[in-house]
Amino acid sequence: MTQPLSEMTRDTLAACGVSRDLEVAGGQAVISPLTGEAVAHVATDDAASAASAIDRAAAAFRDWRLVPAPKRGELVRLFAEELRASKEELGRLVSIEAGKSPSEGAGEVQEMIDICDFAVGLSRQLYGLTIATERPGHRMMETWHPLGVVGIITAFNFPLAPWCWNAALALVCGDPVVWKPSEKTPLTAIGCQAVFDRALARFGDAPEGLSQILIGGPEVGEVITDSPKVALVSATGSTRMGRIVGPRVAARFGRSILELGGNNAGIVCPSADLDMALRAIAFGAMGTAGQRCTTMRRLFVHDSVYDELVPALKRAYASVSIGNPLETDALVGPLIDAAAFDAMGVALRTAQEAGGTVHGGERVEVGPETAIYVRPALVEMPAQTGPVMEETFAPILYVMRYSDLDAAIEDHNAVGGGLSSSIFTTDLREMEVFLSARGSDCGIANVNIGTSGAEIGGAFGGEKETGGGRESGSDAWRAYMRRATNTINYSRDLPLAQGVTFDI
Ligand code: NAD
Repeated sequence: MTQPLSEMTRDTLAACGVSRDLEVAGGQAVISPLTGEAVAHVATDDAASAASAIDRAAAAFRDWRLVPAPKRGELVRLFAEELRASKEELGRLVSIEAGKSPSEGAGEVQEMIDICDFAVGLSRQLYGLTIATERPGHRMMETWHPLGVVGIITAFNFPLAPWCWNAALALVCGDPVVWKPSEKTPLTAIGCQAVFDRALARFGDAPEGLSQILIGGPEVGEVITDSPKVALVSATGSTRMGRIVGPRVAARFGRSILELGGNNAGIVCPSADLDMALRAIAFGAMGTAGQRCTTMRRLFVHDSVYDELVPALKRAYASVSIGNPLETDALVGPLIDAAAFDAMGVALRTAQEAGGTVHGGERVEVGPETAIYVRPALVEMPAQTGPVMEETFAPILYVMRYSDLDAAIEDHNAVGGGLSSSIFTTDLREMEVFLSARGSDCGIANVNIGTSGAEIGGAFGGEKETGGGRESGSDAWRAYMRRATNTINYSRDLPLAQGVTFDI
């Protein structure tokens, strides 16, 4: 790298429109996993500043809810234009803070552009139903109204896209947003906010406080969680976090969208196209160094193809390129921090104790000692036990044999996570069973593609310990609005429903 990373970070932020005085002596250190070094120190929020931001958002709601939805869509359209102009810079911030390759960083910004485009179209389609009424001279309909302030809490591994899945929809639905990004990726959020501010300046008359960021850790997230002024909390992160946030929002009768951890699996059937399956599994399990919520973590391979597929997978694991994605075209970048490597070590040791055979998983020297790069691990397991049942947020793929599809689906569904799943087959019956009511119990069920890499058009999210939330495409927008059922009597009589009489 010719330019020091901290200087590159400052230049990239400046290109997004962020002031060069961002650096705060004594502020929270932002560590890049690329080298393990601090690239900036930023000021953080506290309970008081977080509460003030929520107050500003609540004030903004009073005006924004009255702006016609297609006009709100115009702001999101302008934002998408600014994102296109800053795609490279925002993508680079994702690489610097989350360690992703430039292609994945740019892909994340593309996902933001896609959901903005979707939301712009949606801004003219926030419609309800007209419903048959049993009373003569009456009309019944549903109306969708803006909901209120939306609090968005996001994880380190997708520092941009999940915010935008929420924010683009919330803004067209008439809701201001308050965003607490991961404490590990504040700079990407600061860069994104500057890009959003450019769109706001072009838009002209949006209320102050329409989109704000709060920098800090769980304690700042808790202010969002507990504030009765936040109508909807959309929280992306670990199941551990969701177990705290979900009940606290529910206790105050707030709404929540929980997008939590997954323990995603694939099933490779006898008729599978093995070349295709190999590539899909390699990307799904090793891509983003195993740090996607949708990363493939378990693989069930039919006995008849195990001895062909698994040796090929082991070769792919042994040869995959590992390195700093801003300096090389390596496919596997760093782990986020040493704690992730420790958790990976514990899982691998426990798997070995349970009879697993571990291939890979060792540290690979790339740059300074502070940077944590590892060879992804493939673990052949005799059965689905121990660490296989849990999400370890690192590149570990547990591989198991199966002989009966129904039993494999049962094992597939036996874990807590319910996010994403795949089957590799060219047999119509197997495919349909997997997608049926007795098949995968996940929010995402794929055929002949991996578990990761969703598009924005469908609703995204999962069941069970993944939290049950849905965001992004399809009809996910409804969570950001409140529904009113309206019955209008245009007759001169007052017939009561269900034939009830009440004559006075
Ligand atoms: P994390 O749970 O440690 O943190 C996520 C966010 O929650 C951060 O902003 C953090 O500050 C905040 N937070 C933590 N505790 C909180 C509390 N008590 N109150 C309020 N906020 C709190 O997760 P992480 O390590 O950043 O991300 C990895 C995890 O996120 C994995 O489990 C992964 O599967 C999951 N994830 C899920 C999705 C999805 O869409 N389902 C997407 C990305 C990541």
